[in-house]
Amino acid sequence: MAVTEPAPAAVSAAHSAAHEGILRRQSARESAARTYARALPIVPVRARGLTIEGADGRRYLDCLSGAGTLALGHNHPVVLEAIRKVLDSGAPLHVLDLATPVKDAFTTELFRTLPRGLADRARIQFCGPAGTDAVEAALKLVRTATGRDGMLAFTGAYHGMTAGALEASGGATDVRVARLPYPQDYRCPFGIGGADGAEVAARWTESLLDDTKSGVLRPAGMILEPVQGEGGVIPAPDDWLRRMRAITAARSIPLIADEVQTGVGRTGAFWAVEHSGVVPDVMVLSKAIGGSLPLAVVVYRDDLDVWPPGAHAGTFRGNQLAMAAGAATLAYVRENGLAERAGVLGARMLTHLRSLAAEHPCIGDVRGRGLMIGVELVNPAAADGPEPGARPATTGLLSPGRSPRPLPPAPELAAEVQRECLRRGLIVELGGRHSSVVRLLPPLTITDEQAAAILDRLADAISAAARPHHG
Ligand code: PMP
Repeated sequence: MAVTEPAPAAVSAAHSAAHEGILRRQSARESAARTYARALPIVPVRARGLTIEGADGRRYLDCLSGAGTLALGHNHPVVLEAIRKVLDSGAPLHVLDLATPVKDAFTTELFRTLPRGLADRARIQFCGPAGTDAVEAALKLVRTATGRDGMLAFTGAYHGMTAGALEASGGATDVRVARLPYPQDYRCPFGIGGADGAEVAARWTESLLDDTKSGVLRPAGMILEPVQGEGGVIPAPDDWLRRMRAITAARSIPLIADEVQTGVGRTGAFWAVEHSGVVPDVMVLSKAIGGSLPLAVVVYRDDLDVWPPGAHAGTFRGNQLAMAAGAATLAYVRENGLAERAGVLGARMLTHLRSLAAEHPCIGDVRGRGLMIGVELVNPAAADGPEPGARPATTGLLSPGRSPRPLPPAPELAAEVQRECLRRGLIVELGGRHSSVVRLLPPLTITDEQAAAILDRLADAISAAARPHHG
């Protein structure tokens, strides 16, 4: 399928009726908790690479990519071939956690990609097929290994929807998890941003751990995302990540890197921790490792492997098709240098978006790493008014006034941009603390022309959505 403009607006009546009928039945029958389906009223029927074709006959450029799952886009030939090979071989599709040649090959390929220092001593636990289950496994693993209970996690984090993962995510208020500031430039909680803001965040972490009256017991582990995705596309500075590694190592606290979204080349390195050279004790992996099918694992250093048999069980831990698709994806990303490609193209797209921000006061910030990109929409009309959560004009901390004052988030405008994008045949996701960040997670395989088409459509959508707000 060629990636071109959306198909003509005039679609056949039959297409239209099928499309409307499916959407109507969905909203009548599916849960009130459904999510993406609300903002994206499309009915995908075919897909290839960056492109999805809807039941309405229209074509869309898909920058949601299954919430960052599709490193190679939809239905990549190497993925389809790997799946067909398993189907044609007569191999069992469901094997619990038994050994199979397909699983053996997946594990070999995955271990080959791991950061040196972990790869040599790695153990893998196959989990239930969602990222959140691998997060649960990681938390359980370090609690068992350390005999401690508490956990360190970060403001704005997202680790999943099961109880333990939710507890460690930004929206939770659980006392078992101590919340630490995640460094960020635009909405720096200390009003500083940059390296100084990250340094203050690191010192706060250190002091919580060392102050015997901080109210924080020595934890079982620290869990972090090297780039917060759902939190609004916030890349952790490399220095800060190295500080977290040093702080945790010095206190024998296992460091868990949640690379569910950042892994497999997405940020410009195969694993996002590699930008900083940090070697975590535990890595949580899902999404792209299954090559578009459900798969989740936790990988960790062998000395942590002291939990008993059955400590983390589950029926669906042996999805052979996902392992085959995943192994093919990992190998393809590695052999074709797609991480490097994501780094180069992502940097170019960020530069382009920053020049767009200069023209649009409603773009408060543009940030990202590799092909994990966020555009934060704000309300420029409120430039002089008070704003929830924004820093005061001067703070008296390290370098007052260094980072520009953030404007209030504009979630309604972001939703309008998402709708205008869809109208133009571009699927984007929203994220961030206030759902005011437009997120781009395109496949790592996109061409320069496709990147340009994405940016054109996004620019048009922002212009259209911002018009009434500019007065
Ligand atoms: N961790 C991170 C960093 C994520 O982005 C997500 C999903 N967006 C999860 C964990 C949870 O994964 P799942 O939705 O597959 O449970």
